[in-house]
Amino acid sequence: LVSREVKPDDSIVRVGDLSIGGAAIHVIAGPCSVESREQIISTAQAVKKAGATMLRGGAFKPRTSPYEFQGLKGDGLALLAEARKETGLLVTTEVKDTATLDAVAEHTDILQVGARNMQNFSLLEAVGETRKPVLLKRGISATIKELLMAAEYIVARGNTQVILCERGIRTFENMTRNTLDLNAIPMLKALTHLPVFVDPSHGIGVRKAVPAMMRAAVAAGADGIIVEVHPDPPRAKSDGFQSLDFSEFEKAMGEVRAIAQAM
Ligand code: PEP
Ligand code: MN
Repeated sequence: LVSREVKPDDSIVRVGDLSIGGAAIHVIAGPCSVESREQIISTAQAVKKAGATMLRGGAFKPRTSPYEFQGLKGDGLALLAEARKETGLLVTTEVKDTATLDAVAEHTDILQVGARNMQNFSLLEAVGETRKPVLLKRGISATIKELLMAAEYIVARGNTQVILCERGIRTFENMTRNTLDLNAIPMLKALTHLPVFVDPSHGIGVRKAVPAMMRAAVAAGADGIIVEVHPDPPRAKSDGFQSLDFSEFEKAMGEVRAIAQAM
């Protein structure tokens, strides 16, 4: 169902009044985790001003260590809803498991399925039963084919509103957090009609290098970007080392717009 052979024309995912997968590049920006009202509202306002069309923010966080900050959970969802109301930005947040799916779906415009859950087939089936747009992230060691098959699980249940997201894969290289697989962008665009996003933050995991990978993603043909932005990255409760501050984000957005216009 996700193959271009079955459906040659690009699919457009409609999120509110946004058309994802069309001519425009969409940028989803915001903190790794929602931390406080002040943090999420100020970030929403700053990223909106810089040209982002959606806000991201994790409430249920899948952390590598059980002793790390796990997110504000339900309170985080409520704060996202406040930021949405305050700024008009649509929001995306991760759904970590089937137990919290209904609560997350109620508060988000896009359900984010994280890399660690790309092959959680019960979760894929459950989000496939909803009619909410889904941002499906590539697994940490998943092939392009496996990503497409994970998307197939969702679409097979009747939810055709799926956006794929390249977010870096694990390789032998350890100077960077992951290796952003830019190859996946033209490959996915050829293999599937679904929109393709890139997460340069988790893809490289080095704050100063994130803008270059934003530019590269757009140049390689991505339909959009999801990027971490924080008011004070060194103080972030998660992923500060890869989060842009407001002025870095604003500058990167100008560069992204210039590349998008040149294409
Ligand atoms: C995230 O977007 O904050 C996240 C946890 O991403 P991933 O699932 O790609 O690791
Ligand atoms: Mn993160």
